[in-house]
Amino acid sequence: MLIKIFLALERFDSGKIKEVEKVLSNGVKQIAIIPHLNPDGDAMGACLGLKRVLRNRGFEVKVICPTDFPEFLKWLPGLNNTLIFSEHKEEAESFIEASDLVFCLDFNDINRVGDIAGVLKRYNGPKVLIDHHPHPQEFADYIFSYPKASSTCELVFEFVQQIGMKENMDRDVATCLFTGILTDTGSFSYNSSDSRTYAIVGDLLDFGIDKDAIHSRVFNNYTADRMRLLGHCIGSKMVVLPEYRTAYLSISDADMKRFNFQPGDNEGFVNIPLSIHGIIFTVLFTENEDRIKISFRSKGKFATNEFSAKHFNGGGHRNASGGESNLPLEEAIRKFVALLPDYKEDLLNVEIG
Ligand code: 5GP
Ligand code: MN
Repeated sequence: MLIKIFLALERFDSGKIKEVEKVLSNGVKQIAIIPHLNPDGDAMGACLGLKRVLRNRGFEVKVICPTDFPEFLKWLPGLNNTLIFSEHKEEAESFIEASDLVFCLDFNDINRVGDIAGVLKRYNGPKVLIDHHPHPQEFADYIFSYPKASSTCELVFEFVQQIGMKENMDRDVATCLFTGILTDTGSFSYNSSDSRTYAIVGDLLDFGIDKDAIHSRVFNNYTADRMRLLGHCIGSKMVVLPEYRTAYLSISDADMKRFNFQPGDNEGFVNIPLSIHGIIFTVLFTENEDRIKISFRSKGKFATNEFSAKHFNGGGHRNASGGESNLPLEEAIRKFVALLPDYKEDLLNVEIG
């Protein structure tokens, strides 16, 4: 028990927390909170949860997303005044510029915010980063980076607690933070072996959140088109390479048109082939206007973030990462498949699966 308390105190440097506390109490009125490009459940949950805590504390706060977020998150509490930078550039830019403090949540590299990067580079005020991606760039004044955490939402909970704002938490904050923990752990199926995660979830449940309803809103919300796209991906587009314990899926422009693709419709598809016995490395290629977006997932020790950083200009976590390619879809896939022999030994040596 004593050891747990010590660990809990160790996660955030108390000196740094005090400095942020001082900044907040030193005339700060307006705060901008920024997640990464194409924000996911963790990024949105963390931003909206922190926004509500800070609003409850009396600050003027807005979440500014680089791009829109998926439909399956559009029920989250507190979305009302969220600005999408790609759609309301001027308004969003002036809000950031006029803010006394900026929070950067769930990203480790300033280029992960797309066109907001330029605004952030020019911004003179203090920036606080709270994140769980490995190797953060030092673009913020106060960095709270903890790659072992399940999610940024878990870290926001601890930040709020340590900075003495737990009294400003409420059921809506807890709903937002639980959503991020739920989505970033694949419903507690990975990145969730630390008992601290469950202690935090316990605290969130005590705020009276409806865990089952949140799960259902996030996961049981397919449109018929999306369900058919998934069927098509698995039935006609999945390639399984048992000799490399690898499987990949791809979604082309034509697939998108055929199934009336909406942002976020491919969310989670990359995980599905990991359910095939023996498969430990899965990839999803999605054709975009100007590039191919690639998602990687793995089980055990195979480091997809290293693979993605080396070959596809990306990064992320060991078992969940992403990258991109400027090649046409078929060529990007060919490049990927041609790399596999170099990784055969690593792939065969993974113990799980
Ligand atoms: P997803 O495959 O769900 O888009 O992303 C999985 C993880 O990889 C996330 O933690 C995300 O931050 C990271 N990631 C996704 N795409 C990129 C990318 O293009 N560059 C980097 N550095 N990380 C990425
Ligand atoms: Mn995250």
